[in-house]
Amino acid sequence: MSQSADPIRHVVIVGGGTAGWMTAAALSKVLQGRYDITLVESDEIGTVGVGEATIPAINKFNRILEIDEDEFVRETQGSFKLGIEFVNWGHLGNRYIHGFGILGQELWTTDFHQYWLKMRLAGQSPDLEAYSITQRACRANKFMRADLSRPQSPLSQIVYAFHFDAGLYAKYLSRYSQARGVKRVEGRIERVHLHETAGPREGFVRSVQLADGQEIAGDLFIDCSGFRGLLIEQTLKTGYEDWTHWLPCDRAVAVPCESVKPLTPYTRSTAHRAGWQWRIPLQHRTGNGHVFCSSQISEDEATNVLLSNLDGRALAEPRTLRFVTGKRKKAWNRNVVAVGLASGFLEPLESTSIHLIQTAVARLITLFPDQGFSQPDIDEFNEQFDFEITRIRDFIILHYHLNQRTDSPFWTQCREMAVPESLKKRMALYQQRGRIFRESSELFTEVGWLQVMNGQGLMPQAYNPLVDLYDEAEIQEFLKGIREVIDRCVEVMPDHAEFIRQHCAAPGH
Ligand SMILES: Cc1cc2nc3c(=O)[nH]c(=O)nc-3n(C[C@H](O)[C@H](O)[C@H](O)COP(=O)(O)OP(=O)(O)OC[C@H]3O[C@@H](n4cnc5c(N)ncnc54)[C@H](O)[C@@H]3O)c2cc1C
Repeated sequence: MSQSADPIRHVVIVGGGTAGWMTAAALSKVLQGRYDITLVESDEIGTVGVGEATIPAINKFNRILEIDEDEFVRETQGSFKLGIEFVNWGHLGNRYIHGFGILGQELWTTDFHQYWLKMRLAGQSPDLEAYSITQRACRANKFMRADLSRPQSPLSQIVYAFHFDAGLYAKYLSRYSQARGVKRVEGRIERVHLHETAGPREGFVRSVQLADGQEIAGDLFIDCSGFRGLLIEQTLKTGYEDWTHWLPCDRAVAVPCESVKPLTPYTRSTAHRAGWQWRIPLQHRTGNGHVFCSSQISEDEATNVLLSNLDGRALAEPRTLRFVTGKRKKAWNRNVVAVGLASGFLEPLESTSIHLIQTAVARLITLFPDQGFSQPDIDEFNEQFDFEITRIRDFIILHYHLNQRTDSPFWTQCREMAVPESLKKRMALYQQRGRIFRESSELFTEVGWLQVMNGQGLMPQAYNPLVDLYDEAEIQEFLKGIREVIDRCVEVMPDHAEFIRQHCAAPGH
């Protein structure tokens, strides 16, 4: 006999930023119009309006929605992203790319990078960049989608994500969702009502009430209200775990500017005295922002640093956003699931927030409740969220911690701070013999960790001894072959801007 309670009838999404509309789009597609979905957003409050760089997993989201990729890029003034260039992170003058996809070849015994490491330690190999088609393509401003008809070629290994205009992305998904039955309500929520009668639903959210008096009742509420966490925090007082002691930046000032050529197929992150600056190239403009630590640099100074490091003319007034890095103690509490900024925040150094929205929605679909709201399911959701966000947190801390900069107290403090045990262990393992392990289903792969540890100057003392089963000449030949094939592949790839012009140019480009 099934123990099921009544099904959910009405899902209410609070918020129409990237989180709200991604949630609405995914649920409207997967729930096939069998559930009522209402999304409430307030034009008066608006959205954060940033969040324009993604990681390759978004391709899975697009496939689930069955959206046409060219149309999506065109309508969001998008461009393609093959990785992130980090400038001045390890030390002033340091430049490296965290490129998507594999390095060298996937070998099923000893990792590829162990062969590279042996030769590198002997001073006989160029840096890792030479073994990555995406990194080499970044340097050459080239882009094409993977050519799967040539499975042996590095051209089949091109892995990419997107840059897009956050406002246009929300609008695009809004049209998509409303075409699939999502009801959009515009208005400011002023009150949240809870179930008050004693019983299993006591203290659950019953309805939200708008400024005009309209009341919207629901069974399941998705809190996509941004940093304020209207339901999860302001109403349910769930609590927040603050990670500022590891990630001290607490503000960002953002400004778009005119584009310059060439159109780079990567995000750039440049470290400054007390923070870092992002640069996200779109078809119609470049997005920029300076993430900084307000106890080390004033807002005016941070704005000046940003404005004096733009490619072109600023197109708007700079806008400041404040945040507290950390996560909600429970992303799912009673009948409220927090998604997006309402669930927590990690600075956009590795463009992971939109991804966290995607995985939260996927997890919600997998653990979709009925009116019984099974507690083990809720606990599982929260554990998976915690696992995912803490591993990403460690990865971001790594960028700050592994530095040799001596030009400001901020970098000294980051280098000297005590880091989480989990991160300490990873760095120690790598430092010994270059060993890296991806923990279960964590987001970043061994190759991601490798690129950042190597890029920021952590050099292992030795390599896996099994590499010595091959003689040096053989290894050299193997590495040289890979470099040459990658170089030839990058030569035939089209220019990024030209690729966009041919396939997905926005009107006017
Ligand atoms: C500086 C910065 C840079 C970032 N860069 C990146 C990046 O490059 N890549 C990435 O993946 N992520 C990035 N992010 C994160 C990304 O911007 C967010 O994850 C994403 O935009 C989702 O925001 P949201 O929808 O949760 O919140 P918001 O955009 O704040 O939306 C909140 C919504 O709730 C509504 N709302 C709030 N209160 C009420 C109310 N009382 N009544 C009715 N409606 C209400 C608002 O109107 C709005 O529609 C960045 C974030 C910041 C702060």
